[in-house]
Amino acid sequence: MVCVTSWIEISDERLRENYRALVATAGAGTAVLGVVKANAYGHGLSRCARVLAEAGAGWLGVTGVEEGLTVRAALAQTAEQPRVLVMCGLCEQDAEAMVQAELTPVVWSVEQIGWLEAAAVRLGCAQAVRVHMEIDSGMTRQGVRPGAELAGVLAALRESGRVRLEGLMTHFASAEVAGSRQTAGQRRQFEAALAQVRAAEFVPEWIHAGNTSAVDVGEVEGKGQSAELDAVAWVRRVAEGAKTLVRPGLALYGYCLPVEMEGVQAMSRLQGKVKPVMTWKAKVIGLTEVGVGDAVGYNGTYVAERPLRVALLGVGYADGLRRELSSSNARAGGWVMVQGKRAPMVGRISMNLTSVDVTGIAGMRLGDEVVVLGDGVTAEDHAGLAGTIAYEILCGVRAVEQVG
Ligand SMILES: *Cc1c(COP(=O)(O)O)cnc(C)c1O
Repeated sequence: MVCVTSWIEISDERLRENYRALVATAGAGTAVLGVVKANAYGHGLSRCARVLAEAGAGWLGVTGVEEGLTVRAALAQTAEQPRVLVMCGLCEQDAEAMVQAELTPVVWSVEQIGWLEAAAVRLGCAQAVRVHMEIDSGMTRQGVRPGAELAGVLAALRESGRVRLEGLMTHFASAEVAGSRQTAGQRRQFEAALAQVRAAEFVPEWIHAGNTSAVDVGEVEGKGQSAELDAVAWVRRVAEGAKTLVRPGLALYGYCLPVEMEGVQAMSRLQGKVKPVMTWKAKVIGLTEVGVGDAVGYNGTYVAERPLRVALLGVGYADGLRRELSSSNARAGGWVMVQGKRAPMVGRISMNLTSVDVTGIAGMRLGDEVVVLGDGVTAEDHAGLAGTIAYEILCGVRAVEQVG
């Protein structure tokens, strides 16, 4: 077998435990849809889908039809097929595959309903095509706005013989901000949409809203706040007896955004209960003694001020390691974990190579493994240095899983 110098390892156990922590936090009466879109945030779609289905997830959320088909193939041997919500839109060309594979599309336009209707007719489907409609409650991304726009889509649904409205959903733009005025406005818009849908005599069986942060942000005991901080409780209240779902992604993989507070006190319900699922490792492919005055890497941004022992790792920005983690004498960069200790990056990260300072770490040898991302160096640490969010770091890891 050839040598792989950078790879990821996935902890099925942590994924399962994170899922269970989310189920417990969402509470009885609210189901948890496991968001596995974007290749399970870089963790591997097929594997994560299997683990979550075995853990009891009744719903999974994917990006598009292609990922939906991957989930169906991965779960071919599974007795209890989870429902698969296709969250990021439907193109005309995908309508037939969507119907055939019994994927559940999120829709918001008259056109999308027409494509599904036509596909169901062409395929001679006996069963109704169940769809979930997204309400644009104020994020101005996907979805239909309450009022005239929604009335138009409801009319299309009424005329359709084969497409059935099964769910109504929305997505919050600022779920991590407790007491957010934007969220309050979005809730009002969604409640208005629900009232409009019910007045048109549609009865959605599923009502859902809420990502990781919506599950995470909780009331501080004994504060007696008037604002209903708990988004899960809000969904249950407005659902008026319909089934409810929350749709966490990030927390499944072990991360939460810090809770921000807008004039209220709130707490994180998931912090410490979810743990990183991905460990990204790299191999030491070189070890060298660097003398005072030696410049390390491209453009010599780091010049040794004392004698250093430097390990060369077989990982770089081609594998998704952010170049912003590079260091210079003026600016500390990222680090990797070696034997539980930090080894700081020295100089610029190259395409497939990275140098780290292992001075004082005893017994380093060629072929040793180091942790590029995982315990002791999280996706949040990478994100902080790269000026982005943990989401983008996780999705950007291009090292592949090592099997066996
Ligand atoms: C990605 C996504 C989620 C999951 O968000 P997290 O912040 O990762 O929990 C939920 N709902 C929708 C509509 C999404 O697009």
